[in-house]
Amino acid sequence: MKTIEIIHKAQSLESKDIFLLLAKRHIGVHFNLSEADFEKGQKALIIGDRQGNTGIFVNPSVKPKDVEFLLWHEFGHYETEDSPTLQRNFMFSSDRTRHEYEANMFAVFALIPEFPVQPTIFHAAKAVGIPYDILNDVLFKISEDPDSYVRNYFSLYYL
Ligand SMILES: [Zn+2]
Repeated sequence: MKTIEIIHKAQSLESKDIFLLLAKRHIGVHFNLSEADFEKGQKALIIGDRQGNTGIFVNPSVKPKDVEFLLWHEFGHYETEDSPTLQRNFMFSSDRTRHEYEANMFAVFALIPEFPVQPTIFHAAKAVGIPYDILNDVLFKISEDPDSYVRNYFSLYYL
């Protein structure tokens, strides 16, 4: 998906309530796996089966304050990755790095639809639970985007 499409999609969601958005799409949130069920460093995953059921599984080691951003990130995978009726398994995506970045970008723009100017952006991000490193990474990637409209629009945030 192009950057501008991800941004527009994130900005035009019908709600800012991640739990409502997930519920409307029948995406369950599960905390019933153990830490050993996840890859090293993996905090959550979203998996779908052939019947079209999709669920997000959260690693029990995740701190409560970080859960909501993680759900936005996983929801970002769901909203930005086209996967037809076959099994959806974002965890084993062949294009993992790009998809991770796109999910983060979706989450950032869903949580902050209108970017304030620097340095306020970092305060705004903190207030809605976006990790500092992730915001930094998203801003950096935007500054390198092949779409000059995106680069110019966000040139305030070049790092
Ligand atoms: Zn991810």
